[in-house]
Amino acid sequence: MTSPSDMKKPDSKKRTFKPATLAIHADDGFDPSGSLAPPIYQTSTFKADTAAEFDAMATGAFHSAFYARYGNPTGDHARRIIAELESADDALLTASGMGAFTTIVMALLASGDHVVAQRVHYGGTIGLLENVMHKFGITTSFVDQTDPAAFEAAIQPNTKLMIVETPTNPVMAITDLRAIADIAQKHGVITLADNTFATPINQRPLEFGIDIVYHSATKYFGGHHDLIAGAIAAKSQHMEKLWRTSLAVGATLNAFDGWLLVRGLRTLKLRVDQHNSNALQLAQALEKHPRVTQVYYPGLENHPQHALAKAQMSGFSGMLSFEIDGDMATANRLIDDLQLVDRAASLGGVHSLIVSPAAMLAAVMTEDDFKARGVSTGLLRLSVGLEDIDDLITDFYEALDGIS
Ligand code: PLP
Repeated sequence: MTSPSDMKKPDSKKRTFKPATLAIHADDGFDPSGSLAPPIYQTSTFKADTAAEFDAMATGAFHSAFYARYGNPTGDHARRIIAELESADDALLTASGMGAFTTIVMALLASGDHVVAQRVHYGGTIGLLENVMHKFGITTSFVDQTDPAAFEAAIQPNTKLMIVETPTNPVMAITDLRAIADIAQKHGVITLADNTFATPINQRPLEFGIDIVYHSATKYFGGHHDLIAGAIAAKSQHMEKLWRTSLAVGATLNAFDGWLLVRGLRTLKLRVDQHNSNALQLAQALEKHPRVTQVYYPGLENHPQHALAKAQMSGFSGMLSFEIDGDMATANRLIDDLQLVDRAASLGGVHSLIVSPAAMLAAVMTEDDFKARGVSTGLLRLSVGLEDIDDLITDFYEALDGIS
């Protein structure tokens, strides 16, 4: 069958659009019926009219309308929008952010290869490298993300991949995208950036020379805490291999989550601008409260890498951390006393969410170990949502006053 997405309107006037427009119009004409919302192709398979067509569908490049593990036309609309937003040639959807990361490392690496990654990443990233890929003979050197020279010094003759994530928990540290891309290019190493926190509204790593970007699309792309998805955006030479690996490992996104993702993407610019604004205002307000000893937000002038953040980001995201002068019990009491902010994992959605990184790490390591990773008992990680900023500031001030 002909995939609806193959039937795009001819591009008569090629114009360059800004992100808010791309998020809505990047794949106009994707459905021959004229439906403005994509149909949900709730099917596991697609028929071919002839044997020749079946063979072409089974073996052809990047074809979604064959068997639903190969992809789904609903998701095609989302992946085209993501590709445009990330300044990529193409994009691929996966069943989760970890599905995206697993697909990438399985596609690019083989036994005996070496990876340079940051000492601090999302926990699942480190876990896959240390606990899973290590079993298959792939080794990783973990370096200080704020020091590009450390990435270069860690390169070995068998280094194939450099992984960056910026900004990063817990202190919203920034990695210099251009410096890392330049180093990697000099040594013939592929670069990969986790752009989940920033989103392409604030930062487009491919424009700094990074080769592949991936997302937990569960977060800002979806934006409403209602789906689990991943996305990979890259230059065209990587896409075929990535897609073939995603279908080999079975990491494909389902049609309904693809549909929710399209719906989320359409308001991405609007939401991210408001997340940026709320987070900056809340960071500034928290700094002034006597029980708060430190606020970590790249948009604050006193963030140690504010200049670098400003050079590569156009907004600073909705993620921030702050320290209170207190132990874990005090931090937990503060969370209990907040009325508008929920204690929940995940980030990037309309609700403000807060967690105590120390309480999460205490389940798997000693206090000395998590302190060595820069996580104190009074540290709190906040995903600033889209509630009215005055209400959020009042909620935090009342709770902070309450523990004083
Ligand atoms: N990258 C970052 C920065 C994350 O925060 C997460 C999840 O929290 C992931 C990747 C993994 O994404 P998912 O939970 O969608 O598998």
